[in-house]
Amino acid sequence: MVSQVPQPRDRALLRKMSRRMIVDLVQRSGPVSRATIARSTNMAKPTVSAIVEELATEGILTELGVGEASPSGGRRPVLYEFNQASHHVVGIHIGVETTTAVLADARGSEVARTDVVTSREAPADVLASLCGAIDRMIYERDLAKCDVTAIGVCVPALIDPLGGLLVFAPNLEWRNVNIVEGLREVNAEATIYVHNVAQAVLAAEYMEGIGQRWPNAVLLYEDNGVGAAIMIDGSIFHGVRGFAGEIGHCKLPGGEEPCNCGAKGCLETRVSVTAMLRRVGHEPDRHSTLHQQLRTLARSDDPRVKRALREVGKDLGLATSWLVNLVNPDAVVIGGGFLDAGEALLDGLMASVRDQGLPESTAALTVQRSVLGSAAPVRGATLLALQASRRSLQRVLGGYRAPSLPFAQ
Ligand SMILES: [Zn+2]
Repeated sequence: MVSQVPQPRDRALLRKMSRRMIVDLVQRSGPVSRATIARSTNMAKPTVSAIVEELATEGILTELGVGEASPSGGRRPVLYEFNQASHHVVGIHIGVETTTAVLADARGSEVARTDVVTSREAPADVLASLCGAIDRMIYERDLAKCDVTAIGVCVPALIDPLGGLLVFAPNLEWRNVNIVEGLREVNAEATIYVHNVAQAVLAAEYMEGIGQRWPNAVLLYEDNGVGAAIMIDGSIFHGVRGFAGEIGHCKLPGGEEPCNCGAKGCLETRVSVTAMLRRVGHEPDRHSTLHQQLRTLARSDDPRVKRALREVGKDLGLATSWLVNLVNPDAVVIGGGFLDAGEALLDGLMASVRDQGLPESTAALTVQRSVLGSAAPVRGATLLALQASRRSLQRVLGGYRAPSLPFAQ
């Protein structure tokens, strides 16, 4: 007769799965008793009690005190909740003008943020002053460096996500910068992941912005430079080396304008914020950011401005129609500085996509504005850090499976 007694390896696996289920349930449902956990998971009460005690000792769960007795009487149950302070993560958006870092708890809720000016000087100096600003943020919250288990970074650049190497950022004029090494000072033990900003924005929109109705989407994003991101079946498409989506450096016919990448006639030279201001005939001033100046202009009733921004939209729409024909997405998401150009740009873009795209591909296409707006990049970076922290948590917890996030594993 074949023995039904679980082998040690099976028992260890069962234990891991049970821990995972319990952490998942407590995180999802809020304060719960051991009896509720047992009922919801169909586990034996003594097993639940032993695992909950273990998780509480490890600091993953917190004992909240006693709750209400059930209507049928009996002892009042002890309630447990997920300890959101069990670890922290940092999300960083290195922007062309400003760099923002957010400190978030284990659930991803923001607890502090800091902004530093992104200077064009030596990247090593920029990263060192960023580390200093993050250190201050950590200590002001009475935390220690080791409390930060993961760091997510997004930056407008070609990023090799495997090594966290910034290969080239045309608008920052940075080349071959090892972002991971530059941020080691925050916590040498932390897991650090680096992504392209458009990819991080689309991931954030999918998780918390436009939502998950459109798992096949392309994003067009402007932040001094121009990029795209592609999502296929709910996962960001990175390409072989992580460089997918560099639509800003595709050439438009007849373009001669020099681009920061070193080439001429790139889409970016026609539709970046600098190009938009030039095309509406506006001389940039130093009293406000370029995007603020664009917003003010777009709100004016000047028909020449509207016409010029509509033309910008048409150029962007032509490039978008190529993406739509290639990817056949559910939705095109418009984000970053493109939204500062208002309705005229979106009208031009939609007209151009309709005219230039394959009717069969554009018939059911949704064009959707970014919902998270300027909050999207650093939120994407924070989600990236959370994904990384849950992976390291997996080791701590012995098998806790994180909810699936759209970044590559
Ligand atoms: Zn270029």
